[in-house]
Amino acid sequence: MIELTDVTKVYPGGVRALAGVTLTIGAGELVAVVGPSGSGKSTMLHVLGTLDRPTSGRVVVDGHDVSRLSDRQLSALRATRIGFVFQQFHLASGVPALDNVADGLLYAGVALRERRRRAGATLERVGLGHRLDHEPHELSGGERQRVAIARAVIGDPALLLADEPTGNLDSASGEGIMAVLRELHAAGTTVVVITHDLDIAARLDRQVLMRDGRVVGDTVTLPHEAGVTTS
Ligand code: ADP
Repeated sequence: MIELTDVTKVYPGGVRALAGVTLTIGAGELVAVVGPSGSGKSTMLHVLGTLDRPTSGRVVVDGHDVSRLSDRQLSALRATRIGFVFQQFHLASGVPALDNVADGLLYAGVALRERRRRAGATLERVGLGHRLDHEPHELSGGERQRVAIARAVIGDPALLLADEPTGNLDSASGEGIMAVLRELHAAGTTVVVITHDLDIAARLDRQVLMRDGRVVGDTVTLPHEAGVTTS
């Protein structure tokens, strides 16, 4: 699903946020990218999500060599194959949950009625079938993040990228969000979660440890060690 080969990212001003990252993430994996603040996690997510191009190195996402795609082709790849979830939710205020989620299909050429129908089904899937008409300010933090996840996955992306998805939530709401991400993974989506929280990372299948723009560890956790029951 993702192949990074010797990827660097140097920001204007000279900050070397990625200093040669080589990493492969297979289809269907559930991966934590973990590391202290400033270690390059968000930069890596932007590069994985084709929101940003690397300074050097090779990035292959879903079989596409990103350097060979135009900006327009990258937008199309993002719109159809990648979903994003952020710490700050990024929902439209004053807009009901149903339409916030339906907007996730805005660029997919789906008619409004069908967008809304699928939005309802996707909200149902994340446990919010009873909150369709609520606006963001009428929802708890955990519920807002569920809406954001529903919007990210309404187009059934192959890859879901989540940047500190539980960062603004209390631990119980955070647990709920992690459960939703696990369910999406179980249904076949490749899920990459960025976190500085070692406890959260330890409960995912694989932990990629970052420091100073490099991958300094890559471990696989067996389900029983993660305290996750498999059926
Ligand atoms: P993390 O997500 O692990 O906190 P980031 O990827 O956000 O790390 O940042 C890595 C480094 O790159 C930091 O030193 C940060 O200050 C720097 N950085 C991030 N974004 C930018 C930017 N847009 N311009 C310049 N420097 C940046």
